[in-house]
Amino acid sequence: MSPAIQSKLPNVGTTIFTVMSSLAAEYKAINLGQGFPDFSMNAELMRLVSEVMQQGHNQYVPMQGYMPLREALAEKANFLYAADINPDTEITITPGGTYAIYTAFTTILQPGDEVIVFEPAYDSYIPNIEINGAIAVRIPLSFPDYSINWASVRLGITPRTKAIIINSPHNPTGAVLSEDDIEQLRTIVQDTNIFIISDEVYEHLIFDGIEHQSILRYPDLLQRSFVCFSFGKVYNCTGWKLGYCIAPGVLMKEFRKVHQFNCFCCHTPSQVALATFVKEKDAYLSLSVSMQERRDYFSKLIANTRFDLLTSHGSYFICAKYNRISEETDKDFSIRLTKEAGVATIPVSAFYKNADDHKVIRFCFAKKKETLEQAAERLIKI
Ligand code: PMP
Ligand code: GLN
Repeated sequence: MSPAIQSKLPNVGTTIFTVMSSLAAEYKAINLGQGFPDFSMNAELMRLVSEVMQQGHNQYVPMQGYMPLREALAEKANFLYAADINPDTEITITPGGTYAIYTAFTTILQPGDEVIVFEPAYDSYIPNIEINGAIAVRIPLSFPDYSINWASVRLGITPRTKAIIINSPHNPTGAVLSEDDIEQLRTIVQDTNIFIISDEVYEHLIFDGIEHQSILRYPDLLQRSFVCFSFGKVYNCTGWKLGYCIAPGVLMKEFRKVHQFNCFCCHTPSQVALATFVKEKDAYLSLSVSMQERRDYFSKLIANTRFDLLTSHGSYFICAKYNRISEETDKDFSIRLTKEAGVATIPVSAFYKNADDHKVIRFCFAKKKETLEQAAERLIKI
C-alpha cells in the first residue's frame, strides 16, 4: 500500500480544461472549450524549427534561455513598448507562461503572505499561491464588463499584501485594462513593497484598435513586476509550451534560483528558430486583425441563437449568458451542451472560488471558420 500524502492542494480537482476537453473527445463534440487554435501554425516557423534541428541545435541552451532569442525579445520590447530591457539579466525563457507565473509566485511568496487576485481568475493562479502557503484575497470583477473596482482593491490591501496579479487581455472574459486602470494600480502600489505579476500572454490578441497596456511601458511599475508571456499564444502553437518572463535584474536573479532547479532550460530548437522569427514584426502585428475577424464572425453566427454575448476586447475568448435557454448551473449546462448539443464550452464559475453563477459560459473562437459555422448550426437548435 502506498503511504498517504498530506495534500498540498486539498481543495483542487482536475482542471476544467482537461475535464471539458475529455468530455468533448468522449462525445465527439466541437471543442470551443479549452483555448487552442484548430488551424495550422505559421509554416515558416515550423520550417525553421526542423531546419535548426537538422543543423544540430539539439543540446542544452543556457539556463536563462538562448541568448539570441533573449536579445530579439529585448528589441521587441523596445520596439513595442519603448522598454529598456537587459537581455542578459532581465529575461528568462520558460516552459510556458503558466510556469513563468508559478515561478514568479514561488520566488516572492512566504507562508501567510496575501495576494490580490481578481475573479474570475485563470485557474492556475490560486493553486500557485496556495501551494506556497500564501493566501489569495479574491476581489470580484464588476459584472458584466468585468472591470476592476479599484475601491475594493484598496479595501483588500493589508500589511501582509505581497503581490497583485493582473491579466490583460483577460481570460476568460476578454476584458482589457485601460491607462486609467494602470494609474489606479500605480496609486495603490506606490510607497509599498507590493509586487505585480502581470500575465500578458494575450498581448497581441487585442481588438477594436485598443493599445495593450503592458507593464513594460511603465518603468516605475516594472521595477516591482514579473511580466509573463507565452509564445504559444503568439504563434498559434499552444502545444509548444514555451514562454518567458521579464523582470528587473534583482528580481530576476531570485526567479532564476527557482527556475534553475525546476526545469533548468527549455526546448532548444524552438528557441533557436524563434530567435530569427521573433524579428518578423508582421507575424505578431497581424494577429489582432485576424483574431478580431474570428471574434466578429463568431459573434455574427451566435446572434441567431438564444445566447447573449458579452463584450470581448481581447484573448481567444468571448463569454455568453444563457439564461434565456436554461436555469441550470453553468457547469451542468456546459456538460449537457457537450453531451446533447455536441459543443463543448467552459463554465465561467470554474474561475471563481465561490462559484459566482451569472449563468455565463466561455467560448473559444480561435477556430477555423468551418468549425465556428458547424458549432453555430448546433447552437441555433437549442
Ligand atoms: N495565462 C493565461 C490567462 C492563459 O490563458 C494561458 C494559456 N494557457 C497562460 C497564462 C499560459 O500559457 P502557456 O503556459 O500555455 O504558455
Ligand atoms: N489557456 C487555455 C484556456 O484558458 C488552456 C490552458 C490549459 O489547458 N491549461 O482555455
